[in-house]
Amino acid sequence: MSKLKGGCMCGDIRFDCSDEPNVTAVCHCPDCQKLCGTAFSIVVGINSDSLVVDGEPNVFETVGQSGQAVERNFCGKCGSPLYSVVHSMPGTTFLKAGTLDDTSWLDPTIEFFCETAQPWIQKADNRVKFPLMPE
Ligand SMILES: [Zn+2]
Ligand SMILES: [Zn+2]
Repeated sequence: MSKLKGGCMCGDIRFDCSDEPNVTAVCHCPDCQKLCGTAFSIVVGINSDSLVVDGEPNVFETVGQSGQAVERNFCGKCGSPLYSVVHSMPGTTFLKAGTLDDTSWLDPTIEFFCETAQPWIQKADNRVKFPLMPE
């Protein structure tokens, strides 16, 4: 099984990525909290051209820290957030790691937007922490 194979809750949208992940991160930004309905999201950065999507995600666009668009792809049927395309970081797509079929290998090394992290979260000390997104 490919490490980066996954899909939404209802199964209408499936994705696969043949590459190795570039980064596995925790994001505490307010948009991720709202989008995922929880305290943070876990994202896996991959090369956009290695992502193969089967199905038609809906896209909701937000404005990122850079002022540029963030395309948040989700399943229009079950609502699962799937991946984000950040216009300020061309060539990179961030998969929502909870949608992967195999999440056993996840071990985030970086945390973004610690400035807006929920105060009760125990943050591991072995991760590199940025108050916002590094430019
Ligand atoms: Zn779905
Ligand atoms: Zn975020």
